[in-house]
Amino acid sequence: MLYFYIKRNFCQLNHIINYTLLSRYLSSTNNLINHNEIRIWSHSLRELLYHGKPEEVLKQYHNRQLSLCHLSVQIYCILFKAYTLTKNWSEGHQLYTQIRTNKKFFNDQRLQIATEKILSDLIASLSLSINPHHIDPTAFSILMTGYNLHHQPEKTLIIFDRVQYPDAISYLLVFQACSQLKDLQQGKRLVNKLAQSNIDLRKQFKLQTALFDMYGKCGDVSNAENIFETIENPTIVHYNSLLKVYNNKKMYEKAFQLYDKLKQNQKNLKPDQITFTCILYSTAKMMYLDRCQEILNDLNSSTIHLNNHPILQINLINALGKCGDIITAQKIFDQITQERTTGIYNALMKGYIYAQKPLIALSIFDKIPKLDAISYLIAINACAQIAMLRRARILYEQILCHFPSYKEDIRIMNALIDMFGKCADVTTAQHLFDSIENKHIISYNALINAYGLNGNGVKALEIYNSLLTPDEQTYAIILNACSHSLLVNEAEQIFDSIPMKCRNVFIYATMIDALCRASKMNQAQNLLAEYEQTNNKYPSMYITLLTAYARLQNINKVIEIRNLIEQYFPDNFHYISSATILLANTHAFLGNMTEARRLRTLAAEKNKLSGISKLPGISWTETYDGQIHEFIAHDKRHERTEDIYEELKHISDKLNKDGHISDQRWITSDHYLNESNDPLNSHSERLALAYQLLLRRTISSNEPIQITKNLRICGDCHEIFKRITHIYQGLIILARDRTRHHKFQQGKCSCNDYF
Ligand SMILES: [Zn+2]
Ligand SMILES: [Zn+2]
Repeated sequence: MLYFYIKRNFCQLNHIINYTLLSRYLSSTNNLINHNEIRIWSHSLRELLYHGKPEEVLKQYHNRQLSLCHLSVQIYCILFKAYTLTKNWSEGHQLYTQIRTNKKFFNDQRLQIATEKILSDLIASLSLSINPHHIDPTAFSILMTGYNLHHQPEKTLIIFDRVQYPDAISYLLVFQACSQLKDLQQGKRLVNKLAQSNIDLRKQFKLQTALFDMYGKCGDVSNAENIFETIENPTIVHYNSLLKVYNNKKMYEKAFQLYDKLKQNQKNLKPDQITFTCILYSTAKMMYLDRCQEILNDLNSSTIHLNNHPILQINLINALGKCGDIITAQKIFDQITQERTTGIYNALMKGYIYAQKPLIALSIFDKIPKLDAISYLIAINACAQIAMLRRARILYEQILCHFPSYKEDIRIMNALIDMFGKCADVTTAQHLFDSIENKHIISYNALINAYGLNGNGVKALEIYNSLLTPDEQTYAIILNACSHSLLVNEAEQIFDSIPMKCRNVFIYATMIDALCRASKMNQAQNLLAEYEQTNNKYPSMYITLLTAYARLQNINKVIEIRNLIEQYFPDNFHYISSATILLANTHAFLGNMTEARRLRTLAAEKNKLSGISKLPGISWTETYDGQIHEFIAHDKRHERTEDIYEELKHISDKLNKDGHISDQRWITSDHYLNESNDPLNSHSERLALAYQLLLRRTISSNEPIQITKNLRICGDCHEIFKRITHIYQGLIILARDRTRHHKFQQGKCSCNDYF
């Protein structure tokens, strides 16, 4: 396209092009040519070339006036040779640009060699030119176009500097080169040069666009915005480019502002599929459900047919899934009538993972016709979420069989290490780690985390100490590992060794958590104050302090910090609600049940008003037949619900006999208090345990019971899990919750009650 632009402006200067046009008018046309004729013709052209008559070859070609798709690769190679021999660079170049955009020929290696030859000859001929002042400016433009097309932008810059009086087209080409190089410094130098020329940028729409593109690709947001503002009638392409810039720079709020501006424009400019793709990307990043629904409405009322745009489908399903609307995501998926791409399946799987429904994600995985690396990656994440070792091993076997190149994909290897770590199989995690040839820091982080999760802080430290260049994530992971293994002194030493510039919010948050776990409350508060000297307040740090004071039953501090949370983060209903529940639980611990009830009701009402739905507790457990069963709190969906609740009663009786008194302090909502059963009794992890014990009445097993919970295990369930392994001799329960693993055995837990 660019070439035609050049040609339109300069053809009067170029006698070669004029000659071409003339010869075309004079020639006889013959468009009907069959395969056999082409072969014979190709042969005769080659003969002509062989006998030193390239002009005749070109003449014959022009007389035919054939469209691109009619000719064979052989003929094009002959033509390029003829152009080279006749030094007819510009026409050769014209044909070259046409072929580049033609799918049939684009990837043909013979043609690539032939076209490269003409370009290099062209370049050589110009660099040999005696006096650059006398070079036809068109030649410079063609040359720069050639370099840009051949991804050699640095040479475009060299040529540009040889042009004495660059015109608008030369600037356009050189800005394109700067875009390719992402070289803002050079770009700015040339903008200064442009300002001193007599070219009026405001009148040069294409030049403005090239400059705007350059700022965008170089990530200079403010200059890109300035140019955007000066463009008199920006097109949808300009809007889309700016949206891409904002997304690249993670400035999603700005993207929304621009989208609103676009919707309010007076020029009847409509968002196209690229606009929707970009803005859905921003929506997914920000997880704004209301935005997502608004965009979906806009999309539905536009003329765009989703079926024709697989990339848009992926972005839409991905955004809906991330914003928590998996039902609509599934609906969109079901409505797709043409063949679904793997990317679309992957987006839906991811949605189910966000929705904490890894079992459905895995069932989609089984239906994907053509699995790609991303599909495997998401399936590994799903298995890591369920953390059932048998299922994880089945997936690993499948990868070994059907995706043998997995070892070369570092993302897959890291995800596998993470998965086995979460399934408490650190041996396999270590084995996978050892098999990685070029270990990336992410692999180290995954392995350190695996040991940390399994309560082996010493081994985590050993790997950490062997690292020469830990990154910010390593610091947060090792601090967390130390914290969960009660290695607080080691954590403090590591924290002090972290360079100031690396100490991000997560590192501070993890260190505060480590100090809180060790009941070093003064140090924790001091560290919080230190962090806030130079940073904004971060709500989850306050929740960490509050949780620790609640555990220490320091009611005054709990009240103080809950009030601070309400004062500092008045719009964050989620944290205020969590804080209120923690305060209610502390009151309950101290026997003040009336106040506890009042606060729980208050939290529930506030949640209702703000539309927050509490994330339900979900537990998964795998039975001897390889089936994975899912339970939510107070669940009655299972086919053996009656038997399960009967078993729960049986367990309760045994626990009562053992002296256990249900710990009402762990009740987080009064919603289920009216029921005859104890609400703690039907927590998801306990339902999963009851189902496993029920099965063992008929089929005995020595294997440990595995249970995974998406949230933190509650204190009362933790207590009864311990007691049960004492009552049922030889029983081992492996429970993984959001933060760590617990191995219950002989009435004790591997976490030493610190979770
Ligand atoms: Zn519980
Ligand atoms: Zn434990």
